[in-house]
Amino acid sequence: MQILLKDGLVITNHNGNYLPSEGNILINNGYIEAIGDHIEIAEHEEVRVIDLSGKMVIPGLINAHSHSYANMVKGMGEVLPLEPWMYYAMLVGKMTLEQLRVAASLQVIENIRTGCTAFVDHIARDFVGMDTVMDVYDRTGIRAALAPMIGDLGYTETLPPLSGERTKVVPGAGGRKPQEILDECEALVKKWHGHDNRLSIMIGPSGPQRCSDELLQGSYELAKKYNLGFHTHLLETRIQAQTATEFWGKGMVEHLAELEVLSTQASLAHAVWLTDKEIEVIAEYGASVVHNPMSNLTLGSGVAPLSKYIDSGINIALGSDGSNCGGSQSIIKSMQLAAVLPRISNPDYRKWPSAETVFRMGTLGGATVLGAADELGSISVGKLADLVAIDLAQTTYQPLQDPVSQLVHGETGQGVDLVMVGGKILMEEGRLTTIDEQSVLAEARDMAPALAKARDEWIAANQDNYCHVEKVYSQHWGL
Ligand SMILES: [Zn+2]
Repeated sequence: MQILLKDGLVITNHNGNYLPSEGNILINNGYIEAIGDHIEIAEHEEVRVIDLSGKMVIPGLINAHSHSYANMVKGMGEVLPLEPWMYYAMLVGKMTLEQLRVAASLQVIENIRTGCTAFVDHIARDFVGMDTVMDVYDRTGIRAALAPMIGDLGYTETLPPLSGERTKVVPGAGGRKPQEILDECEALVKKWHGHDNRLSIMIGPSGPQRCSDELLQGSYELAKKYNLGFHTHLLETRIQAQTATEFWGKGMVEHLAELEVLSTQASLAHAVWLTDKEIEVIAEYGASVVHNPMSNLTLGSGVAPLSKYIDSGINIALGSDGSNCGGSQSIIKSMQLAAVLPRISNPDYRKWPSAETVFRMGTLGGATVLGAADELGSISVGKLADLVAIDLAQTTYQPLQDPVSQLVHGETGQGVDLVMVGGKILMEEGRLTTIDEQSVLAEARDMAPALAKARDEWIAANQDNYCHVEKVYSQHWGL
């Protein structure tokens, strides 16, 4: 069946300029077949007409860095910087499959409700539970790229040493052999990549400092073999930059370049503590940066040099990171912060990112990270119908002058009215159609006591390591 979206205010991309115009969109077999004032429809065709007058139609937003499991550990580890905070995030290793399923369901609900049609789930839990999570994404119709978060070094040895002595790096000390990890990644690729033209797998080293060279190079080779994304955290905190000097006697980006793991397939989440030279190297290789401003602020990690990335022509996408370090999955919030944060440090307003610039990051920038810029990220004939309609009958949009600016600076997600992925409707008139939201919320609510107990036991069992990491942090900052 075809779908005709009628009389919406359609936001189309004309070389980075987003022009609103009233019109119709015809969707056929999941793809955008026509856009315009008058669309001819053959009489014998069955067409569902959806009236979108008073609504704005945008390309679905893309969340290019998130962690679904983190939906279950929200509210834990508040007022901590990344290094000790990681112990609260590591609780994922103690989660049950049911908890992972509910976490993935919350992920779907919140992304849809904030106008996201696709996300990268950088998921930790070794390989137990990947199918559980992918089953949720399969059933609910969301577009998702699963990047199992892999590493083969123990956590404390990926930090600068307390004594001032060089840390001994032992591949496999994290409990897994590189080849064993890569074999499990490959099995996931064979099972899920390309499923329903909607689900995909990326190879996701947790961070260069958490992986042996063997695992990093093997990860990249696997990504190349299947033409997959290579997704990793990079230089999120200043301590990580120090770790690079400790480990390799050079910058982390230089290390990645020497291992030959940088290319247009690579997407680097956070990228806060890069030198100008490192930014040049990333630009040279055509890798993407995924900006996670809310997470960086929450964990006190710093402010990424976004204007430098823009000037270098690097593809920039946006992420929410986990809901345990930013409070939500909202890419709208990421767009707002991406637009305004660079204004604090630079009085030259001609360099400030415009709403259009950050809207591109939240759409086409993310599509590029997914390796799907030809199919996603803008409303164009021939692209997949991943579309979102926003109700303009809100104070945010009246009086309406600049729809994209008013969306970026004022939307909360409340105006999201219709969401479709590949032409399939996941939300209509504000109601989710493929997932029972109330049941998921009730399940999550009932799991709270067990999660709190698991957290208390986990932190108690790791008290020595936790104290050690706090000392490393204090030593680094001279506290
Ligand atoms: Zn992250």
